[in-house]
Amino acid sequence: MKIGIDAGGTLIKIVEIDNGHRTFRTKRTDELTEVIEWLNQQPCRNVSLTGGKAQMIKDQLDFPAQEFVEFDAASKGLNMLLEEQGHYLKDYIFANVGTGTSMHYFDGQTQRRVGGIGAGGGMIQGLGYLLSGITDYQTLTDTAEQGDREFIDLKVKHIYKNSEPPIPGDLTAANFAHVMRHLDKEVSTADQLASVMGVVGEVVTTMAITLAREFQTENVVYIGSSFNNNHLLRKVVEDYTVLRGFKPYYVEGGAFSGALGSIYLGNPA
Ligand code: ADP
Repeated sequence: MKIGIDAGGTLIKIVEIDNGHRTFRTKRTDELTEVIEWLNQQPCRNVSLTGGKAQMIKDQLDFPAQEFVEFDAASKGLNMLLEEQGHYLKDYIFANVGTGTSMHYFDGQTQRRVGGIGAGGGMIQGLGYLLSGITDYQTLTDTAEQGDREFIDLKVKHIYKNSEPPIPGDLTAANFAHVMRHLDKEVSTADQLASVMGVVGEVVTTMAITLAREFQTENVVYIGSSFNNNHLLRKVVEDYTVLRGFKPYYVEGGAFSGALGSIYLGNPA
């Protein structure tokens, strides 16, 4: 039995590997104490840690555990998941959309952190709460799914009314700017939350594809728990990446890349 834990700003990702069989689990970071108690009760002493709260866990364990830099762990796990899922990519940018967003270039050998932005899952939760009062993540994402961005986000075609725009008309020209032209319209909570997904997805994608161009790769891989139960964010990111001429990839279990990778960094074959 081997255990890998990625303890981040919002969520703790736990991977257990028993006789080659993997199980994936998530806890909230405010449940850290329970996770530490659980670990101390386990007969398994092969524990690999990563993420911002890894040191905190390590300090409270009754036994030694290994700790790894989260970027290396995420890259290792992601590389494995990509290949297992049939994606043999020579190189790629990966965007880890967690509480915040971290961007990396993988050159076929190693990852290099090449950027980061504050727009990410934490912004979805925080701004989403300010607009809706919703604290529960699933309720927030389910509500956003029902929304319509039409009267909130200003598109290029709204500006180029009777003429051909020089860039695709469906691109967002200004997030939230259509509100000022529709002050008479009712916009629902769902509509507002849909636009939150829009701005986060578009900012993340813009940065990711700019980096992809800089590092001359066409592949952009998106991971992080912010895509959990969040089809709208996935769709915004996927459509926008394709529209800009790059290839988007999501991997099954991508949010567990760090936890999984830490196990393999701790137990090299
Ligand atoms: P971190 O390592 O920073 O915790 P994650 O990749 O785990 O980052 O992503 C955290 C984000 O995932 C949250 O900000 C939120 O948008 C989203 N999320 C997904 N599932 C949940 C959940 N059950 N509770 C809270 N946030 C969730």
